[in-house]
Amino acid sequence: MQVKAPRGTYDVLPPDSKKWQFIEQIIEETAHLFGYNEIRTPVFEHTELFERGVGETTDIVTKEMYTFQDKSNRSLTLRPEGTASCVRALVEHSVYGGVMPVKWYYSGPMFRYDRPQTGRYRQFHQFGVEAFGSHSPYLDAEIIMLLVQILHNLGLIDYELHLNSVGCPVCRETYRQILITHINPVKEKLCPDCQSRYEKNPLRVLDCKIEDCKQAITDFPFIFDHLCDNCKQHYNLVKSTLEAGGIHYLHDNNLVRGLDYYTNTAFEIHIPSIGAQSAVGGGGRYNGLVKACGGPDIPGIGFALGMERLLLALDGVPEYKEPYSSLDVFLAVLDDKYDVQAMQVLERLRTAKIMADRDYTGRSMKAQMKYADKLGARIVVLMGEDEVNRGFFTIRDMQSREQLEVKSEQIISAIKDILA
Ligand code: AMP
Repeated sequence: MQVKAPRGTYDVLPPDSKKWQFIEQIIEETAHLFGYNEIRTPVFEHTELFERGVGETTDIVTKEMYTFQDKSNRSLTLRPEGTASCVRALVEHSVYGGVMPVKWYYSGPMFRYDRPQTGRYRQFHQFGVEAFGSHSPYLDAEIIMLLVQILHNLGLIDYELHLNSVGCPVCRETYRQILITHINPVKEKLCPDCQSRYEKNPLRVLDCKIEDCKQAITDFPFIFDHLCDNCKQHYNLVKSTLEAGGIHYLHDNNLVRGLDYYTNTAFEIHIPSIGAQSAVGGGGRYNGLVKACGGPDIPGIGFALGMERLLLALDGVPEYKEPYSSLDVFLAVLDDKYDVQAMQVLERLRTAKIMADRDYTGRSMKAQMKYADKLGARIVVLMGEDEVNRGFFTIRDMQSREQLEVKSEQIISAIKDILA
């Protein structure tokens, strides 16, 4: 019986894995430039962490978690996102007792039982950053600048940055009441999800993607018009800092994060060219989350980028060149009696950090040259009777097609000269 990968998952084979490495490298380099260091957390956690940290009324928790009992009857869940684990680690290791702000990034697989489609998977990968311990609006701006710089460094310039403020628990509570009074008369027109959650979580109705819900709320008041002075000032400073940095954004009244611990800045990055699932990343402030997860009252802010959607976006960039999978040296072995010596030569090359390979399937000389071409070898080193007996190697530069002979002990420097 043939076993296939589970629905909503996929394999990344070479050469596509090169693209992943390229994206990961750029993202990590950019995060380091901004002073963020890596945190690695487990792929599964106690279920209650996500119930509290992601929110019991969210789709993720109510419908999408991969939850299972382990052999000791503990309820565990494959992580659906990265923030809750970072908060848990911050509290568990009392990291907040040290130097603030704490600036972390993470990357890895996340799991959500959602309906698979282009850009939406059940195992997908996120890169995210979190910064804890500062209320400064300039940190909000920095986080957004990091996100934008990552896109630029990847060559992705056709994006839309959506921005809003969801206020603080005080001004949001006033708005929440106003919102409920507006929803009540139209609630029959809302989708079943919005109908069932609107009393607990009315802000979610604002960013529901169902057309009927969008229609029903068109003349609703905006949270932006109900922000308190502090929240308005915070938002204005974030915006003016982005403007000073030449970062273009769209104020988006319907961009909300419904849960109580989300505060102030909320943002999303869209790349419209990738299709219906155009959000490549999103984030915001969550000043109440650390406390909700059993820690002290410490503010936080972060974002997560979806790697699969970045890959989709990169496919649409004409200047994007696939990272070339090439080989420095192909060692063509002309007789199997030199196999052991060939392995010694390969060892010398690789120890000198020269990427080298050979044939292991008994190809003829001609077939080995074809194979070397296929591997993208820059240089072919020939190893036959002549070469071994005389202590010389014949080196063929595959670009210039020139051939030269070098003494065995000079092979490394000769190859490095060509590669330089
Ligand atoms: P979220 O954690 O829901 O705010 O998502 C942040 C980013 O992760 C999104 O903008 C997407 O790029 C990506 N993402 C979320 N869910 C999925 C999924 N099921 N498949 C692929 N990417 C996803």
